[in-house]
Amino acid sequence: MVSVSSGDNVDFNTQGKIQQVTILGATGTIGTQTLDVMSQHPERFEVFALTANANVQGLFDLCVKYKPRYAVLLSASAATSLETQLKNAGVVTTVLQGESALCEVASHQDVDVVMAAIVGAAGLHPAMAAAKAGKRILLANKETLVMAGNLFMQAVTDGGATLLPIDSEHNAIFQVMPYQRSRVLADIGVKRILLTASGGPFRNASMEQLQHVTRAQALNHPNWVMGPKITIDSASMMNKGLEVIEAHWLFNASSAQIEVLVHPQSVIHSMVEYNDGSVLAQMGNPDMRTPIAYGLGYPDRLISGVSSLDLLKVGRLDFCAPDQNKFPCLRLAYEALDAGGTAPAILNASNEIAVEAFLADKIGFMDIPALIETVLSKANVEAVTSIAQLVEVDADARRAATHWLNTLACAH
Ligand code: NAD
Ligand code: MG
Repeated sequence: MVSVSSGDNVDFNTQGKIQQVTILGATGTIGTQTLDVMSQHPERFEVFALTANANVQGLFDLCVKYKPRYAVLLSASAATSLETQLKNAGVVTTVLQGESALCEVASHQDVDVVMAAIVGAAGLHPAMAAAKAGKRILLANKETLVMAGNLFMQAVTDGGATLLPIDSEHNAIFQVMPYQRSRVLADIGVKRILLTASGGPFRNASMEQLQHVTRAQALNHPNWVMGPKITIDSASMMNKGLEVIEAHWLFNASSAQIEVLVHPQSVIHSMVEYNDGSVLAQMGNPDMRTPIAYGLGYPDRLISGVSSLDLLKVGRLDFCAPDQNKFPCLRLAYEALDAGGTAPAILNASNEIAVEAFLADKIGFMDIPALIETVLSKANVEAVTSIAQLVEVDADARRAATHWLNTLACAH
């Protein structure tokens, strides 16, 4: 196992040099919040590259505003259209296309910082490229760690990269457990990690109600504004399951050392309990600009634009245990972590297909865990040996999940 940052390679000393930043997934909620924080510190950061999937208008607007050296779109036709629009607007940004270009701007020699904020398994290759190239990686794309935790952490170490977790819970844990390197938790006096969860919009829903929840209800998160995939994951609590696996890789924690605690106010972003009984928490308003600013400035603390936490207004902090019967996705994620090998990659791929199908109104909310459980129960779990193997495993799981969907459609 390796550590969050690569041992002593933490780049404390940037010697006043302006940091060149690539934002993977720039048009998304994390991408735009990253640009918001960076704009508050023009003396520290410059935009090197911005990327998106196929959102031409979104990336065009960002290019006009931030004038990056490169803009990358996954889709070739979208890239051609962006290139024309930028030329007409007189913006001198080079437009590139495809996955290899995403990897190029993540590993370019002039880049210092990479914000990995693509959603889903699509973020794996560019994040790996940044790790191998030894960048400071601000990791929002948790799916990279779920799919390929051991290979990614190894690439961080081998590449001499600095890895800073952006997921609010993991950022909180990192803030209250700063000295963890390559040691196991017991060696640094840590008893357990308490991963907080809002419980999502259906925290108080009955089993019966969960069968009938709509897409609109599931997209209505009580505390956080996020992209559609993670919002559905939060409603099903798969997000917390993915985060348990993420915490396992980031902090050398076994599944038994990671406890999920439902905390509806989302003010405590996670906690660490030490052997002496101390429990350290990181608190703040639920606003991703706090962890983003922490990652951008580390070890300095930057102004982020986040308002002060008003505890008098919050009034109370509540906690309860998660209900794994109502939210089977959490159980499935723990099981996949314990099964090890390719099981988390299979969990992740089948979840991505299930969420897509739910968002397209093709399946019900409780079909999400049903689909994942079926795919996992039929899959052949192997030891992870390479990224190429994981790409195949991911594709196989997607095929199995699609087959399940087709069978369901035929039955109706
Ligand atoms: P989002 O849907 O708002 O944005 C996703 C971005 O990825 C967009 O720029 C999109 O163009 C790009 N993208 C999508 N598919 C792509 C593909 N196939 N190839 C290349 N680019 C692609 O998502 P988000 O909410 O910003 O989340 C991004 C990541 O950060 C996710 O992994 C999520 O789990 C994680 N995260 C988000 C939050 C949050 O508050 N939004 C919090 C913690 C972690
Ligand atoms: Mg989170």
